[in-house]
Amino acid sequence: MVATTAITVTGPLPWQQRQWQRMHEALANDRFPHALLMTGRPGAGKRLFADALMARLLCLQVTADGQACGHCRGCRLRLADNHPDIFLLQPLPDKQEIIIDQIRALIDDLATTAQQGGYRVVIIDPAERLNSAAANSLLKVLEEPGESLLFCLLSSQAMRLPATIRSRCQHLPFPLPLAAEAEEWLRQQLPRPEQSQSLLVAAFGSPLTALQLSRREDAAENPVSAQLLALLQGQSSPVEVAASWLQAGSQETLDKLYACLAQLLRLQWVPAPATVDPVLQKLHQQLQLEGRHADALYSMLDSVHELLRLQGTSLNQSLLFEALAIQWLTTE
Ligand SMILES: [Zn+2]
Repeated sequence: MVATTAITVTGPLPWQQRQWQRMHEALANDRFPHALLMTGRPGAGKRLFADALMARLLCLQVTADGQACGHCRGCRLRLADNHPDIFLLQPLPDKQEIIIDQIRALIDDLATTAQQGGYRVVIIDPAERLNSAAANSLLKVLEEPGESLLFCLLSSQAMRLPATIRSRCQHLPFPLPLAAEAEEWLRQQLPRPEQSQSLLVAAFGSPLTALQLSRREDAAENPVSAQLLALLQGQSSPVEVAASWLQAGSQETLDKLYACLAQLLRLQWVPAPATVDPVLQKLHQQLQLEGRHADALYSMLDSVHELLRLQGTSLNQSLLFEALAIQWLTTE
């Protein structure tokens, strides 16, 4: 999984003011929903918004402008990752899905934990990973939610959720910001603001994804580009390359692979800037020569993404890396 961005949550992002206002009014008018379905493309900032909203609901001394104070007991417990009224549901590290046992455990926790005097907030991210048994079990809770309980279901593929779940949530869409707004925000986050435009192109207009790409690139002086080239030119075997990736550290290698693939994708659309690494440039030319296009790069990116998600599990890393190297050789 792509690492979360290290942005401190103090309130909504600049392009989320409308949604924030809507929540603020619902609270003020005592019409706050018990379940929200937050939808939008990856990188639209759904999770940051959910976190900001959660912070607001758990704060015991909300500021005059409607944000969490950052120092009351509720805020301190939340900032220490120790708030008993926060429940986060994600697929377990070794699973693709959110399973019914997780929902059962949640229901038990909700029934037995004492509330700290404010809201209780359940974040389900990504909600489309609920399997059907888990979704059915969740449905029962959504039908009879307790007092002061908020479910935030986050999804970039909401149509994969059962209609029964969707119909019990208030829908809160998160479109991507306009290009100018995205760029203005991104420029403020980057040590080299002049990169903002090209990063946004590579991230399909999503400022948060662009920020992640920039951090990956900073971390990546790319020996992996040389290894990928050696594989294509038959100078090295998948077993050898996989072994050196493992030796370099799997998380680090995956970050570098991600950055390298993102740069290669960018080269498909925009002419190489003068600063591009010559090995990367050569790799790009080799791919063109072999008639490999964006699809092959996307499918590699998917696999790298999946391996990032599987980090920390007991799966055989060496086999996974060999499979990745073979995929690089064979995907067209
Ligand atoms: Zn507070």
